[in-house]
Amino acid sequence: MTFILPLNAGSDRPVPFIDLVPQFQSMSAEVMAVVERVFTEQKFIMGDEVAGLEEEIAAYCDSRFAIGCNSGTDALIIALQALDIGEGDEVITTPFSFFATASSICRAGATPVFVDIDPETFNLDVDAIEDAITPHTKAIMPVHLFGQCCDMEPLWRLCQKYNLHIVEDACQAIGAEYQGRRTGVLGAVGCFSFFPTKNLGGAGDGGMMTTDDPELYAKLKRLRVHGDIGQYEHLDLGMNSRLDALQAAVLRVKLKQLENWTTARQNNAARYGQMFEQAGILDTISLPVAKSDRRHVYNQYCIRVQDGQRDHVMQQLKASKVGCAVYYPKPLHLQTCFKHLGYKAGQFPHSEAASRDILALPSYPELPVADQDRVVDCLVKICREMPQSQQVRRAA
Ligand SMILES: *Cc1c(COP(=O)(O)O)cnc(C)c1O
Repeated sequence: MTFILPLNAGSDRPVPFIDLVPQFQSMSAEVMAVVERVFTEQKFIMGDEVAGLEEEIAAYCDSRFAIGCNSGTDALIIALQALDIGEGDEVITTPFSFFATASSICRAGATPVFVDIDPETFNLDVDAIEDAITPHTKAIMPVHLFGQCCDMEPLWRLCQKYNLHIVEDACQAIGAEYQGRRTGVLGAVGCFSFFPTKNLGGAGDGGMMTTDDPELYAKLKRLRVHGDIGQYEHLDLGMNSRLDALQAAVLRVKLKQLENWTTARQNNAARYGQMFEQAGILDTISLPVAKSDRRHVYNQYCIRVQDGQRDHVMQQLKASKVGCAVYYPKPLHLQTCFKHLGYKAGQFPHSEAASRDILALPSYPELPVADQDRVVDCLVKICREMPQSQQVRRAA
């Protein structure tokens, strides 16, 4: 029997923002085999799987040590504790990030001090940091947002000059590089998340810390298990942030594919860029900027929609059943729980503008070409129908 498809077949098939199913399908036999192994052995906490993953992540990042933990959030908190950062200390970071960047600083007992972003890369504006340094400043926490490294060299200079630590929030940026060096070795401690939608995602929560310093390594390692050095001897007030063997086993299988997935993300980004440029809509949207001294791993592919039209574009995409998302709609300095820090609307104009303009498009590694084409077709149509861009074209 032959099916003759109507011309517009599938034209309104929903395009999900992210779909984790095809990735699992591509490796389900191998994943289920290691799950079975963990269940057979009944060693669920830490153990050989976690030690194996730690070794492999350390090798991947070219770091001396890696320490598994329960989440990216815990990795950030433990890193700060290991550096003796707490009560009375200040940590400089960006207000344009996921909540945990700033909450981890508070959880460690310290105070986040926000500095605005560079509107081109959405990362910390490194030229604005020095003015925010006080005698209480102990560390800078750069976030490699969306998978592109923060400009690190100016940070290294400031850290030398003022004797500060760097804690990398690399939760969105495993495998990203700055001047040829991977995230995880760009500061004192690198912090990673294995939340399922990160570039290396587990079957639940998980995290990792990396360091080159043997003393820090020992401290990070005991802080994740109640500060225990064995025989129920507790040196510090640590926490329970162990990594499950099940997560480690699954992540070890997935890590082998990470480079392929990164390439696929980069290809998606390149293809979006070419198609948007060809369609001539770069007066309405702007593309993410990948700096030449960095390797962008595109945890998110985020465009900016000009002229306050982001919400309109998002509504229209959703009406066409095309998935998209906003990271992040409200900068951290304006969050209710940080009210006591005393920041005001208008204080970080670039972060606030990014929150209004930013729009993430589907770009997961297995995104079908047909789906990507539909994202582009829909977005181009929306842009062309927008009153301003018509005016711009008429004027041109
Ligand atoms: C995901 C993420 C975190 C937190 O990681 P979890 O594993 O969810 O705790 C922290 N910072 C950034 C920038 C993130 O994207």
